[in-house]
Amino acid sequence: MAIKNAYLKNLLERVKKRNPGEPEFHQAVTEVLESLEPVAEKRQDLIDAGVFESIVEPERIIKFRVPWVDDNGNVVVNRGFRVQFNSALGPYKGGLRFHPSVYEGIVKFLGFEQIFKNSLTGEGIGGGKGGSDFDPKGKSDNEVMRFCQSFMTELSKYVGADTDVPAGDIGVGGREIGYMFGQYKRLRNEFVGVLTGKGLQWGGSLVRTEATGYGLCYYMEEALRVTGDSFRGKTVVISGSGNVAIYAAQKATHLGAKVVAVSDSNGYVYDPDGINLNTVKQLKEVERKRIKEYTAKHPGAVYTEGCSGIWSVPCQIALPCATQNELDGPAAETLLKNGLIAVGEGANMPSTPEAIEVFQRNSIIFGPAKATNAGGVGISALEMTQNSQRATWSFEVVDQKLKEMMVSIYHKSAEAAREYGLAGNLVAGANIAGFLKVAETMKAYGVV
Ligand code: NDP
Repeated sequence: MAIKNAYLKNLLERVKKRNPGEPEFHQAVTEVLESLEPVAEKRQDLIDAGVFESIVEPERIIKFRVPWVDDNGNVVVNRGFRVQFNSALGPYKGGLRFHPSVYEGIVKFLGFEQIFKNSLTGEGIGGGKGGSDFDPKGKSDNEVMRFCQSFMTELSKYVGADTDVPAGDIGVGGREIGYMFGQYKRLRNEFVGVLTGKGLQWGGSLVRTEATGYGLCYYMEEALRVTGDSFRGKTVVISGSGNVAIYAAQKATHLGAKVVAVSDSNGYVYDPDGINLNTVKQLKEVERKRIKEYTAKHPGAVYTEGCSGIWSVPCQIALPCATQNELDGPAAETLLKNGLIAVGEGANMPSTPEAIEVFQRNSIIFGPAKATNAGGVGISALEMTQNSQRATWSFEVVDQKLKEMMVSIYHKSAEAAREYGLAGNLVAGANIAGFLKVAETMKAYGVV
């Protein structure tokens, strides 16, 4: 879908020119601006206030050197990033990604998406994202600790409980958050909620670990419910085997579905009896091994090298939960042929524009990432609230709030899509609903 509105078309061209060599950022901005065409047509006041112009430009980008010493005594130098994209609604909030593919364009795409996602949660949080090209895979705990301490030594100058509150993402889980929180506390002599995803003994929230995966399933269950359907009895395929994938699989199973395949960046396993989550958790969360090892414990399962093949496994519901652009047009066609009825994005931007086009043309229920995976950051915001109050809420209370948040995000998006003449388009609905709240606030602040 090409943009027709002359103002937005020109803006997109300028964004591409000003941010060369950053295809992921271009892709994210293109999708949002396409969705905002009906808003631009109706709301000249937002154009005049410079809101569209400002929202595509990060408020601040911090880029820094991260030197550390490996177990052999060698000095290694990585790069660290924090993009503080938009603080209209509250402190910057968004995860840190440690993966060799991380560069400025990835962090900007993720930070941009985060603005709208955070707005949709209904909590007072702005959008940010960060990370490093450091690869935790194959590193000892001590190496990860030394890296995290060096990373936080610099990052601590720019974050704070009321300024910017990072969390986890790919390659950043409880272990990394612990090392970074410990270093921040030591440097600042302050015990404050500067990071979310913390351990339960030191300020973490119940349900934060499960929140993104559970939230994805709550959103999809509601989307299915309004069409008279549900997860019950469905076959589900989930890419990835990290934090989001594991808890999406757990909740889909609670809701009566059978998850038959999961993956990592090397390949995927298909288990016709249903994936055994205890095995996946042991392999991934405890032993930090490859998904390939799954078949040693479950001889009925089959491992196939190459992660993209997972979309050839027949299913009715597909939940891409690994990384960006992992599900392309041909994969979408294959899923369709095999009886697909719904797709819910657990990862950020996992479907290419071609794949989304296939899903929407064929009336597949398609839940876009910035709505469907907002549960993680939503519960992070509740972790911030508990930290401010020095309170601890029960699992049941937080889980109920998560459920309500995801159901509300679904309806906000569906309603915004209807209001702007795009009924059924949950991508446009999420972008419009997320945008309008930030845009009205930016307009209220004047030119800042
Ligand atoms: P994890 O690091 O826990 O897991 C990532 C999973 O995806 C692993 O199985 C990993 O395999 C796989 N993966 C990573 N990169 C690639 C790649 N290039 N190709 C194929 N597979 C890959 O991360 P999370 O589960 O936390 O994050 C997954 C996605 O969800 C990301 O897009 C993230 O931005 C998004 N997300 C996460 C949230 C959270 O709360 N954690 C919140 C909202 C979104 P391997 O181990 O082989 O690398």
